[in-house]
Amino acid sequence: MHFLIPAAGSGTRMKAGKNKLLIDLEGESLIYWTLKSVFSASSTNWVGIIGQPKDKNLLLNSAKEFAQKVHWINGGDTRQQSVLNGLIALPKDAKKVLIHDGARCLINPELIDLCANQLDENEAVILATKVTDTIKIVDNEGFIKETPDRNYLWAAQTPQGFLVDRLKKAHKMAIDKNWKVTDDASLFEMLNWKVKIIEGTYSNIKITSPIDLKIAKLFVKNPS
Ligand code: C5P
Repeated sequence: MHFLIPAAGSGTRMKAGKNKLLIDLEGESLIYWTLKSVFSASSTNWVGIIGQPKDKNLLLNSAKEFAQKVHWINGGDTRQQSVLNGLIALPKDAKKVLIHDGARCLINPELIDLCANQLDENEAVILATKVTDTIKIVDNEGFIKETPDRNYLWAAQTPQGFLVDRLKKAHKMAIDKNWKVTDDASLFEMLNWKVKIIEGTYSNIKITSPIDLKIAKLFVKNPS
């Protein structure tokens, strides 16, 4: 399975003054923990990290154990552009790809394998969890517009897996139509292509703001 890790964000919400994937979590960088899980999955056999050129040495040095095994790809200004760069850099024979945010450093390797296996039967899969909060759609003035039925709400995570040809086509369409998305499954939805949900775990959080680091500390030695 080919694996792409978007890691080219600026981490402004983390206020760390550097790429958040360089932040320390129990003695190792966040990108180290992500790579450790990715390489522990039995389905993984090719891994590309998509990062900003200025972060290349820092990211690879912070996860030395894996530095020789990963392929470096320069990222773009948005996650969408970074993933497209990754798709272009895949080997020609790549049929399937899993895309996993570098910031989700607590992913369980078994869930990676589950996503990879489900791609045998589906053109697109994503990990997601059932939403437990009641979600409000709010207008620009801060007043509630509506409350969607919680039974139909899932929180999207990564990995998200796709047939490479299909995902490339979806990204090309997005450029033509000027679609802006924050995950890859959104492009499939816009094209009315099916995406299968695989139930994940609440521990697979995306490290975004400082409180997430505190939560991650509880899980990092014992991912579930
Ligand atoms: O900003 P957010 O946390 O949603 O980003 C999700 C993932 O996408 C992160 O791992 C981040 O490094 C990556 N990203 C990227 N290129 C960008 C912006 C974000 O690879 N230009």
